[in-house]
Amino acid sequence: MTAKEELAEKLHKPICEASNEEIYQALTAFVKERMEKVPRLSGERKLYYISAEFLMGKLLSNNLINLGLFEEVKSALEESGKQLSEIEELEPEPSLGNGGLGRLAACYLDSAATLGLPADGVGLNYHFGLFLQQYRDHKQHELPNPWIEQDGWLQDTGISFEVPFRDFTLRSQMYDIDVAGYQNGKNKLHLFDISLPDEEIVHDGIEFDKRDIRHNLTLFLYPDDSDRAGRLLRVYQQYFMVSNAAQLILKELKEKGHSCRELSKYAVIQINDTHPSMVIPELIRLMTNEGVPMSEAIEVVTNTCAYTNHTILAEALEKWPIDYLEEAVPQLLPIIRELDRRVKEKYPDPRFAIIDQQSLVHMAHMDIHYGFSVNGVAALHTEILKSSELRDFAQIYPEKFNNKTNGVTFRRWLMHCDPRLSGLITELVGDGWKKDAQELQKLLAFREDEEVLDRLLAIKLENKRDLCRYLEKTEGVTVREDSVFDVQIKRLHEYKRQQMNALYLIWKYLQIKAGNIPQRPITQLFGAKAAPAYIIAKDIIHLILCLQDLINNAPQVSPWLKVVMVENYNVTKAEKLIPACDISEQISLASKEASGTGNMKFMLNGAVTLGTMDGANVEIHDLVGEENIYIFGRSSEEVIGLYEKSAYHSSDYYGKDPEISKLVDFIIDPQLMRMGDPENLARLYKDMTRKDWFMALLDVKAYIEKKEQALHEFEDRRSWAKKMLTNIAKAGFFSSDRSVSQYNEEIWHLS
Ligand SMILES: *Cc1c(COP(=O)(O)O)cnc(C)c1O
Repeated sequence: MTAKEELAEKLHKPICEASNEEIYQALTAFVKERMEKVPRLSGERKLYYISAEFLMGKLLSNNLINLGLFEEVKSALEESGKQLSEIEELEPEPSLGNGGLGRLAACYLDSAATLGLPADGVGLNYHFGLFLQQYRDHKQHELPNPWIEQDGWLQDTGISFEVPFRDFTLRSQMYDIDVAGYQNGKNKLHLFDISLPDEEIVHDGIEFDKRDIRHNLTLFLYPDDSDRAGRLLRVYQQYFMVSNAAQLILKELKEKGHSCRELSKYAVIQINDTHPSMVIPELIRLMTNEGVPMSEAIEVVTNTCAYTNHTILAEALEKWPIDYLEEAVPQLLPIIRELDRRVKEKYPDPRFAIIDQQSLVHMAHMDIHYGFSVNGVAALHTEILKSSELRDFAQIYPEKFNNKTNGVTFRRWLMHCDPRLSGLITELVGDGWKKDAQELQKLLAFREDEEVLDRLLAIKLENKRDLCRYLEKTEGVTVREDSVFDVQIKRLHEYKRQQMNALYLIWKYLQIKAGNIPQRPITQLFGAKAAPAYIIAKDIIHLILCLQDLINNAPQVSPWLKVVMVENYNVTKAEKLIPACDISEQISLASKEASGTGNMKFMLNGAVTLGTMDGANVEIHDLVGEENIYIFGRSSEEVIGLYEKSAYHSSDYYGKDPEISKLVDFIIDPQLMRMGDPENLARLYKDMTRKDWFMALLDVKAYIEKKEQALHEFEDRRSWAKKMLTNIAKAGFFSSDRSVSQYNEEIWHLS
């Protein structure tokens, strides 16, 4: 039966007579049936990728693409006057992640299945995700973000485990989401839930009783940890996740007829950041319970676990007070103490301790001592880990440290989100790039082909038109399609320096007021969620929303400069914004962004990067060359030196440079203070003038200058198109297929 016939049969009527809602239901059921028939990937050795986040994005179209049904279904719908893109709108995006780390996990699941590797994800089934972001009074407000549907992608497996805590035991329920590879078999994402989640306990936005663990454990990702109850809840969540993972892994091992002593031969566990670190003592506990001697259990687990470090920000390396663990999971303490004892016996230097002198348990230290691999996520990041943050560890375990530069799946981030560009690429170089991304380099042959360059520009314009229509509909703003689209979308964090971009907007606003009109209108797009308890981050959102109001309503300025901060930035919005972008903002303080993956998605879609030599920007720079990227700012060495010597003082820049002072003072300009909340603006002003921990004032002038250069060079359209083409052609290295192959060859060794 054709897809069209199957759909009509499910609908009990011709497609043209069905509503989009009915088609969505039928199409989901159709894809699930086809997915059933896809063979499960298997092999002697299997990977378990444990992660607190899986930022999957909508699944319908991606599944259609990977199952090879996309074109057939799309045309079947079109023949009946229906648009697949409108049907997709009805699918809720799973809210199982927060940012880059979670999106990386999702890309790796796609690539592992595409490469035919047996690799399942393990995580938690958060009902309300991180939060749904809304703006009111120029401020972020947080609401629950429900996404679970009756007949959605989650399948109840009937599999369940008991997870013991000090005061009670929780029973789990395992739900699965199928992950089909592109023209290959399928793996699973296992999401554990508690048996009695109670969504009703949430009130007033995202408030709930944090102590009611039996009912709240899987409601939210990263619940507010500004009080003890919130931090304890995170410990309960983490242990629930890894205890289920450990029990599942041992169950599958036994079902294959192996003993748990052979774990490292048949399984490998990738610990995505430190949230799943307790899987190490939990596995050791379960194995010793089964009679395996402690030393042997430790050795087996060490040979099974590999750790990925995602950040060099000290505050993000988790350290749990031992009394928290005592209160939630006392059964782990004898194990953790034994692991720590063995470390101290061999390495008495306190820098290596798992349990430090303040009785804090260092999760990353446990991973490094009791895992066989430690990887950073971009070349620069791994070098910084080895030379500064984890230098001592790299000296005692040089063989464990390795780099795996992040990647993104080209199925979602090019084939799906930018069909026009995908079509042109395939027309020019064939479709081999879909399985071997390095084939994109063949595009370099068209660098001097004016027709191809003009078509690239035409596609970008079409994509910008689509985005204009979408913004009109969803955000109620009108944007000029002939303006330059400059985009900064990523979590809000001071190190990512959205505040520096805000200073640029102030500068540009003042320039235009003074009569210096830009060559072409500029549209500055933002999207960012701030952690609910991160005060300065919320103040930065407030500043941007106030500037948006001020600039867009200034008759003299708004024809030339427009600011749009989209609400509730997520994968769905990223897929619409990225293909329309001209300039990709990757302006983190050098040394602070471990890799970034947004930078890769933009490059792949023909945006040119404006950025610092940080994270994977360094590798982008090295691939495309000086003339195809706009680099500015202090180097990571300089920045690390400034921190070491405590030599950066924002007052040196604020007090002494009137050009900078003028921009920063504008934050508390009476116009803005009347429009916004003086408390928020004054606090941000104070922070930037007295602290500015992530050195926005250090780089702001270089940033403005480089951005102006990019805007000027944008006007030589053919030359810009050549930069676009080079970026696309060189993006192959950033395919997650390449990353996952390297993980497999150098860490996992799956068969
Ligand atoms: C890719 C992606 C990110 C990561 O962006 P960075 O710029 O690398 O921080 C975050 N959120 C979403 C929705 C993404 O798609």
